[in-house]
Amino acid sequence: MDHFLYRDGALYAEDVPIYEIAAAVGTPFYVYSTATLLRHFQLFDNALDGMDHLVCYAMKAASNQAILKTLAQAGAGMDVVSGGEYLRAKAAGVPGDKIVFSGVGKTADEIRAALSGGIRQFNVESEPEMEVINAIALELGVVAPITVRVNPDVDAKTHAKIATGKSENKFGIPIARASEVYAHAASLPGLEVIGIDVHIGSQLTELEPFELAYTKVAELTEKLRSEGHNIRRLDLGGGLGIPYTRANDAPPLPVEYGALIKKTLGHLGCEIEIEPGRLIAGNAGLMVSKVIYVKSGEGRDFLILDGAMNDLIRPAMYEAYHDIVAVQEPAPGVEQQPYDIVGPVCESGDTFAKERNMPPLAPGDLVAFRSAGAYGAVMSSEYNTRPLIPEVLVHGDQFAVIRERPSFDEIINRDTIPEWL
Ligand SMILES: *Cc1c(COP(=O)(O)O)cnc(C)c1O
Repeated sequence: MDHFLYRDGALYAEDVPIYEIAAAVGTPFYVYSTATLLRHFQLFDNALDGMDHLVCYAMKAASNQAILKTLAQAGAGMDVVSGGEYLRAKAAGVPGDKIVFSGVGKTADEIRAALSGGIRQFNVESEPEMEVINAIALELGVVAPITVRVNPDVDAKTHAKIATGKSENKFGIPIARASEVYAHAASLPGLEVIGIDVHIGSQLTELEPFELAYTKVAELTEKLRSEGHNIRRLDLGGGLGIPYTRANDAPPLPVEYGALIKKTLGHLGCEIEIEPGRLIAGNAGLMVSKVIYVKSGEGRDFLILDGAMNDLIRPAMYEAYHDIVAVQEPAPGVEQQPYDIVGPVCESGDTFAKERNMPPLAPGDLVAFRSAGAYGAVMSSEYNTRPLIPEVLVHGDQFAVIRERPSFDEIINRDTIPEWL
């Protein structure tokens, strides 16, 4: 459920008409709903009711500080995957002891920054990384809390580019080697081993892969405890999928996911962390774009938008489907027609949808890409010297620009010309 609904013939974000935002900031832009962000966070938080838990929002999904602050004020922690994300979470006011640091290639500088600024835990992905964290912790005179990310070798049944829990993926340590790796970690005086971490992929639409993985984590918890490790925190990653199309079967709900966690892991008495990203931000954001031209092609009509693959790369990168709706509500019974919906970037990959049925549209009309809140703005680029598009946050009947569109001067002046030219 989200808060982008038609009212009086036009699409609204909460109580703000989309066309009003478009008039104020120009197109294209991203717009997020505070109420939807909070609702999704609350669904997860409630799903783990009765267990000691922390929902750590995976901020790589949408990392604007206004979004982070909205969620942090509701009680969320953060899952970060780079030093930049760590600093950004801190800048948004998230305390270090609510920040979890994940990622397969943490550099010494990133580790030092997090250890100096305070960190809830590192989710360690390899023994070489363990050694580096240990050395830096000793140098700083602190003890680094860690979990080890295990790779449970389960098929997440999702797009290959976002599956992370199979043994051929680069993530985590093989679960079969866990005893050895935990013994190594326990021997390092700069580390305190507190738990286990697992994250098997993104956009999972079934519970079964989670069940397989979490069952393995439960077994591993008992095994490691019997080997003398004080396993007291389980970080279960993110990955619960969202409905991108209305037609598709709906993915499991957070409450069902929470029930699965209780069933598979509840008896262990561990503190539970989860790291949802997409489900919190995905349906809380739209990308709004304007029709520039309608071009008749050979047997098809092209809708050429001012938004492009550099603004929303998911269709080009993951063959992702996004619902695209007219901002002006189509009159009842209006006949739809198929369009190929494309951006202006100079490659055929810049295609958002083929033969998509839409109401008749004309230049100047606005369209909204639904489910664009996660892995949208954060993956955008300035390819074709197209400025990063603004982000807007709506709260009831208020809205604010939370990232400005840069001017062409700002973009162009970022280059420096060497003196020999
Ligand atoms: C990307 C990622 C997440 C979030 O995944 P979603 O599918 O957005 O919920 C959580 N944890 C880790 C370690 C990740 O890399």
